[in-house]
Amino acid sequence: MIPLAIPNLAGREAEYLRQCIETGYVSSVGPFVTRMETEIAQATGAEHAVATSAGTTGLHLALVAVGVKPGDLVILPTFTFIASANAISHAGAMPWLFDITRDSWTIDVDLVDRQLRSDTVRRSGELIHKATNRRVGAIMPVYTLGMPADMDALNALAEEFGLPIVADAAAAIGARYRDRNIGALAHLSVLSFNGNKTITSGGGGAVIGAQPELMDHVRHLCTTARRGADYDHDAVGFNYRMTNLEAAVGCAQLERLAELVAAKRRISATYRAQLSDLPDIGFFPQPNWAQGACWFSGIVLDARRSQRLDEICTALRAKGIEARKFWKPVHEQAPYRAAPTTTTPVADDIWRRILTLPSSTHLTEQDQAFVIQAVRDILR
Ligand SMILES: *Cc1c(COP(=O)(O)O)cnc(C)c1O
Repeated sequence: MIPLAIPNLAGREAEYLRQCIETGYVSSVGPFVTRMETEIAQATGAEHAVATSAGTTGLHLALVAVGVKPGDLVILPTFTFIASANAISHAGAMPWLFDITRDSWTIDVDLVDRQLRSDTVRRSGELIHKATNRRVGAIMPVYTLGMPADMDALNALAEEFGLPIVADAAAAIGARYRDRNIGALAHLSVLSFNGNKTITSGGGGAVIGAQPELMDHVRHLCTTARRGADYDHDAVGFNYRMTNLEAAVGCAQLERLAELVAAKRRISATYRAQLSDLPDIGFFPQPNWAQGACWFSGIVLDARRSQRLDEICTALRAKGIEARKFWKPVHEQAPYRAAPTTTTPVADDIWRRILTLPSSTHLTEQDQAFVIQAVRDILR
């Protein structure tokens, strides 16, 4: 079976794990955790990084750190992995769901602009969503498949309305936005190092940011809000730290970051070059403001072929190729049917037409050629 996206562990992962066992540093204090935080900050152009147990826990922590409170609404694109919405729920808040744009698959900033103006009111210094009477606490753009949202436009809007931005940058390590790295595009940004991401630590994530006090607050909350060594805690904190075992794998992966991101981009360019002559086939968008990290590659089917998406996946699987549909929008998911939602024509259309194809960083040229031929044969 040619898998969709599996970890590439050909570096020093085993050696570093052995060092953890030999030194006894297996938990959340240890040299690999510290090194991982330094290197993630460097790799993303952030000033600081706090390594977490997952992307989801990093998002939860970041929302609490910027002041999201129980009962708040958090602006979120509906086209995302459910973890983004779940982190908002874990903070006691509720997503306010928005459509994406067709040419970026990221949040429609003009739509957010219009709805903030028409659907909210300022009351005693707080921004209130009129229909639900809830405070709007933050904006969470999602860097879909590693593609940054239009952050200059979103930051201008966030500043006007006094809202913090927590970016779900889970799959975006290696991406660029208008020649800038991703570390300072939002108040806080969150990465994931889950097993299917470009680099992995088994499970894990990181909160990155540029403001020292805010990042100190994230670190404090992440470590049970402990003051000193004598069981003195000054807030309801979290036990969301990454362990040294996970960071050992993560550090070995980071040594090969440039190579792994380049492999993702090469795989994407090859599918594009060798499938673009098929009639009525589209590809994942490349807006002019960013260079995405190409976490997954694949194709976009026309409406007629998309009726057969399940059949196409089954036919590819029969040839030993793992191919899958992509995210079903959050407003279609049982826990979020009651969340306030804009009209969502783009998300409703796009998610039914996406076919993700094998995108592991060690996918060989021969295997990719086999996948491409199989796709051509099935779609012809
Ligand atoms: C992977 C992913 C997450 C969740 O990260 P975990 O580390 O699995 O908790 C959240 N949001 C997006 C967009 C993702 O792709």
